[in-house]
Formats: sequence, structure tokens, C-alpha cells
Amino acid sequence: MPEPVLIAVAWPYANAEIHVGNLTGSYLPADIVARYHRLRGRQVLMVSGSDAHGTPITVRADAEKSTALEVYQRYHATFLDLFQKLGLTYDLFTSTHTSNHFNVSQKMFLALKQNGYMYTDRQMQWYSTSQNRFLPDRYVEGTCYICGFTKARSDQCDNCGSLLDPTLLIDPRTKTDGSQPELRETEHFFLDLALLQPPVEDFLRLRQSYWRPNVLRQSLGQMLAEPLRGRAITRDLDWGIPIPLEGWNGKCLYVWFEAVIGYLSAAIEWGQINGQPDAWRTWWHNPEAKAFYFIGKDNIPFHAIIWPAELIGAGTAFDQLMGYANPEPMVLPYDVPANEFMNLEGQKISGSRNWAVWGDDFLSRYDPDPLRYYLTVAMPETRDSDWDWNEFFHRNNDDLVATWGNLVNRVLSVAFKNFEGQVPDPGELTDVDTDLLKSVEDGFQSVALELEAVHLRAALDAAMNLAKECNKYLDMTAPWKAIKTDRQAAGRAIYTALRAIDSLKIMLAPFLPFSSEKLHTYLGYDQPLFGTQGTQVVQDALAQHEVLRYNPAGASGRWEAGAIQPGRVLRPYAPLFKKLESTIIEEERARLGPKS
Ligand SMILES: [Zn+2]
Repeated sequence: MPEPVLIAVAWPYANAEIHVGNLTGSYLPADIVARYHRLRGRQVLMVSGSDAHGTPITVRADAEKSTALEVYQRYHATFLDLFQKLGLTYDLFTSTHTSNHFNVSQKMFLALKQNGYMYTDRQMQWYSTSQNRFLPDRYVEGTCYICGFTKARSDQCDNCGSLLDPTLLIDPRTKTDGSQPELRETEHFFLDLALLQPPVEDFLRLRQSYWRPNVLRQSLGQMLAEPLRGRAITRDLDWGIPIPLEGWNGKCLYVWFEAVIGYLSAAIEWGQINGQPDAWRTWWHNPEAKAFYFIGKDNIPFHAIIWPAELIGAGTAFDQLMGYANPEPMVLPYDVPANEFMNLEGQKISGSRNWAVWGDDFLSRYDPDPLRYYLTVAMPETRDSDWDWNEFFHRNNDDLVATWGNLVNRVLSVAFKNFEGQVPDPGELTDVDTDLLKSVEDGFQSVALELEAVHLRAALDAAMNLAKECNKYLDMTAPWKAIKTDRQAAGRAIYTALRAIDSLKIMLAPFLPFSSEKLHTYLGYDQPLFGTQGTQVVQDALAQHEVLRYNPAGASGRWEAGAIQPGRVLRPYAPLFKKLESTIIEEERARLGPKS
């Protein structure tokens, strides 16, 4: 059986539109890696959904005098639309507000409790006397007691990345009205992270050799510096998943506990929708399965410490509660290649100041592949990066149009002008031709190595270098000139170049799926490289919801050298990319900032 690969993608809070920083941080790299593994013939399952329960959603609902359900559904619909336009091939993009997710989260809670990793305790929680209610952590801001950042959320500091003990926050303020909250006692369930620290440490040490340093620093490094303590996993809230026990009315599972369970529940829902209710176990119980988690750096502790702790703690009890006769333990993350942040024109992206490039707005003026290309070239893999419109303009015109697009154009134009739109018979290849083909075909190894390690910038760079090599080959063999004196030589060069672009199209397909698919058609293929995407409404006792689904039917792309044969009939073609005018740089910069 082919190796199962789980692509677990960060769950966007359904309270704001998606900008380029979100896309390059987690959603796009996840899709690139998913498409690559699909081309390798592996059993890929890419799942995520809208995080419907976070307090960011109730904060927005309060501000709009609307309901959390309305807010979540409105933004969820925009995500489905954007992800389709950008070609993000989620096998299932669902939401946390489904009966299935409630059920799975409650069973994970009970499994952890059954195994002795839950305890109850009284704790002090911020209480608003003006609103007569306990305040969720996100409703309270203050100064971080570790780094001194003045706008820390009470449970996590976005500046130093630390998880915080909300009661230690300095100078607390209620976000909604600015009033000073007071600490009051309330009873909650706690996840016993102290008890889970040793197995989580073992889990991290086994991955130390290949994880990104920033991820290790914020997981293993942090745990060794300061041992884990139990954390409350329930809250005094009415919007969310109820605690599945008598006598706990008015309290919910806290969002950071249940949202990560979405990776598991979405896999289960995907199987249910496909009429294969046990299929999820392929990714969740097979020790050969590789699970990649694509997230931004602000989510590292939740994915590298807390989620593995939940999975280890639940052990085989989750399967038992699901009614399986031969319960098995859960597959732990293989890699958590968290990205750093992308800034915009030298400043931090800020939605509220409109200092952002919004996905939907961008795609109303440009094609998806140039966005995917630039977001990969500028991906913040090891340090914060910057979106710069001048750079976008150059990457589009210099790389996509002048290097890759022009290569394809030159080859197809000679094939149509001089060889009746067919792949010419090359006769015997010379060393120059076989050298080029060898270089290109070796790329299936070297580019793959980078993709396996989630070094996406390096992988794209390696593939684009091969396109440059092809351009040099064409400049040297100049088939448009050779045709006048040596038709055989011209045919040989065009045949060789067609084979090279037939291979390059595959290597570039994870990054540039739309243009690779087009080129694939121009080269005379009938079956597409990838499957199709669509939405579907799922009926649910809780609330009907719409999901995005990838359908692999008909996909024929394989991670292997193209073997285009002489005589193959090519199809009429058009340029793969549009050249941009330099005026867009200032036009786009003028769109940034507060709208008057
Ligand atoms: Zn801090």
C-alpha cells in the first residue's frame, strides 16, 4: 500500500478575511506539499476547517451586534471561495461547529479523563463586574510578565511566543470596554501536562534531528527551561462544545483544547462523507503514516506540545470510546514545519489598519499562479519575510514571464511554425541534448529531496534553475535559425526542449498548478494532472454546513520524467503568464492603509 500522508493545516478563525501572510504562513505550503505527495502516488489526506468557536468570533459578534453562528458562517463561505480560486486542494475543509467534531472532541476529553490525565481544580479567572460574566482569556489584554510586551493576550504573548498564566498578567484590561477585570474563583477541568511532559519530551527528542530550530526552541527548549504545568481546558462560556458530564452546565471545552482535535475529527468526517467511516484509521493508526502540520509560528506550542500531549494521553482509549474492538494508539506529528511571519512593505501586516494584501482582492486583479509563485519565493521559512510590490512585479515579469513562460512559448511556437504542431522526430540525440535531459530529469530527485524536507523555497529555486538551463540550451541550439539550414538539428532541439518542459511542468505543478495544467493540455495530454475541487452542503443536526472537497478522480500526474513521443499532436497554446506594467507597483501601494 502507498504511504499515507496526512496534511494537517492550521484552522483559520472565522472572524476575518484571509491575507497573504496567512496564505504563505500555512495554507499554501500545505497545498504544495500535498500536491507533491499526490504526484508521488501517496495516499494524501489534507484536512482543515474554520475555527468557529474561538473567542475572536464572539468578540466580533459582540462588536457587530450579531451572533457567533452568523459571523462564523459568513467568513467560512469566503474561505471556501478563496481556497478554490487559489487551488488549495483540501480533501476536506469543514468547521469545528459540527456534530461530528463535538462528538470526537468530547470522546478525546473522556479518553484523557479515563487515562488519568484530567483533574478538576478551582482557579482564579478574570471576571467583568460591568458585564457580570467571566471573561475568556482573549477578552483580557495586559503586559507580558516574561518579556514586557504591553499588548499580550492573557493566555499567550504574540511578542515572545510564550504561553502565559492569565492570572499573572500585569495591568489587565477588558478588551471590549477597557475596564479593569477582577479575579474570581471558578472550577474547571485541567489537562495534566506535568504528567505528560516525559512522553512529550521523548516524542520531541526523536524529531530533533530534522525539525526547524524555531519549532524546537518553542517546544522542547521551552519545556526544559520551564516544566509544563496543568492547564485548564474548560471555560465559562456558552458558545462552544459542552463538557460531556452532568453538572457542568454553562461551561465549554476551551478552544485551544478542541480546535486541534479538528485534524482528527475532519479525517473522520471525510470518511463519513465518502461512505467509508473507518477510513480515517489509515492516517491515524498506521505507524507508517506521516503527519505534517502546517502552521504559523504563533501556534507552535499548541501543535508541538499540547496536541501531541492530547494524543499520547488519549492513547488507545479514544478508539475504545469510538467502539473499535482492537483499539490502537494515535499517530503523532511527523513534522511541524511552522513558518515565521510575512510583513508587508516593511511593516507588520495589520487587518484593522488595512495594511494587508487580501487574498480575494488580489485575485480580482491577478491570476492565482503568480500569487502562489511569489508567496513561495518570499515564504518566511526561517525568518520573517516581506511582501514588496516591486519584488512581486519583478518575480512575475522576470521569472514567470521571461524565464519559464518564454521558454514554453519559444518551444511551442517553433513546433507550430515549422513542424505542423507535432513533436518532431529527433533522429539521434547528441551529447548536448542528452546532457540537458539528464540535468532536468535529475531534478526529480533533487527537487523531491527539498520537498520531502519542506524546504519549499529551495525546491522551487532548483526547478526554476532547470528552466534557465533549458533557455540556455535553446539559445545555443537556436532551432528557429537552424531550421533554415538543418531541419534535423532544429527538430532535435525542439524535441529535446519539449521533453524538458514536459518534465519541468511536473516539478513546477505543486507550486504552479494552473499553468502546469494548461501546459499539460498544450502538450497533447487528455487526462489532467490533478483532480477537481468543489463544495458540498452537509446536513447536520447541529447546523448544516458547507465543505470544500478535493476529488482525485481522473488525476494522472506522476512525479516522473515526461516521455513525450515524436508525432504527438500538440494543442493550440496561449502565453502561460501575463506581463505586468510597472505602474501596478504604485497603484497597489496606494491601496494600502486606512480607507478614507
Ligand atoms: Zn512576552
